[in-house]
Amino acid sequence: MLKRCFILFLFRDIFEAKFFHIAYVRSLCGEINIDLFEITCYLEILGFLKKHANNPTSLRSGMRMGPYEYKEDKMKKIFIFDLDDTLYWNVHDYCYPMLEFEKFILDILGHKAPHISVMRKLEGEIDRGRVKEFGYSIDRFPGSLVETYRTICSRIDIPFDKRIAKKIWQIGMKAFDSDIYKRKGLIKDAEEVLNFLKEQGDKLILLTKGDQYVQKLKINALNLKRWFPDIFIVPSKTEALFRKIKFECSLLENYWFWQAKGWKEIEIYGVGNSFQSDIKPALEASLSCIYIPCETWEFKEEPEKALKEAGKNKLFIFQEIIEIKERYKEL
Ligand SMILES: [Mg+2]
Repeated sequence: MLKRCFILFLFRDIFEAKFFHIAYVRSLCGEINIDLFEITCYLEILGFLKKHANNPTSLRSGMRMGPYEYKEDKMKKIFIFDLDDTLYWNVHDYCYPMLEFEKFILDILGHKAPHISVMRKLEGEIDRGRVKEFGYSIDRFPGSLVETYRTICSRIDIPFDKRIAKKIWQIGMKAFDSDIYKRKGLIKDAEEVLNFLKEQGDKLILLTKGDQYVQKLKINALNLKRWFPDIFIVPSKTEALFRKIKFECSLLENYWFWQAKGWKEIEIYGVGNSFQSDIKPALEASLSCIYIPCETWEFKEEPEKALKEAGKNKLFIFQEIIEIKERYKEL
């Protein structure tokens, strides 16, 4: 508590002075014996706050720098949303190119082609195996189809044809299509929920794992900036990442609220469809979570134990996204 108060007082000094000096920060930290790691963390936050100080329009109306003002009675909540299969049905974007690939192989290899179930199993194994090497890059999926074709050629002892491989690559690239994203739009009720949360004055953050190019394509096609001023595209979601976001956002919001209404811990929720990727690291970072399960190609069994340990106050399991609005008062 003492340290929290110190940070908040420090912020006030900095804002009123509109600048800070490291020696000044260090001398203040020395007085109450804060270590270097914490100083580094504070400086990260200061950078974040300074960015907002220089861009007042990035702060919501009702809050401004300098003489402090926080017009609302309630403290807003922060929701960190996942994108794929939480706000947008993504998994089947890959199914159509897979079906086209299988038909293509049947057409060109005829009776020599493996059974469709064998092809599908083989493609799945190869694709999962390539996650280690390629992560969630745009090259992985079309490359996995080409590698499946290469393996089939080797198994039935026919030469690998580069022209066919090129055609297969093009089939794989159909999984990433801006027009499809636009045509499909957000999942049912997602828009209603996001509008509702925005009306409540809550802060919405988009945290999505995947290829920068592909995710930006989706974000633009779905016009997600309407709701998410802060968007992060990351190669993986970790406890440290959730902690960093929590640290930056919660201190900023706590600060404004504390100035007007007194100290209150802010509520932050991680929202996602994947236990392993969205929920587990967020729980480890002491966030509350809203888990809306959806099975995907990289499905892993949910650890019942971890779910139970998370407890009722920390973890909400919803079947549909609309429950965020319907059960908002329980959050
Ligand atoms: Mg997801």
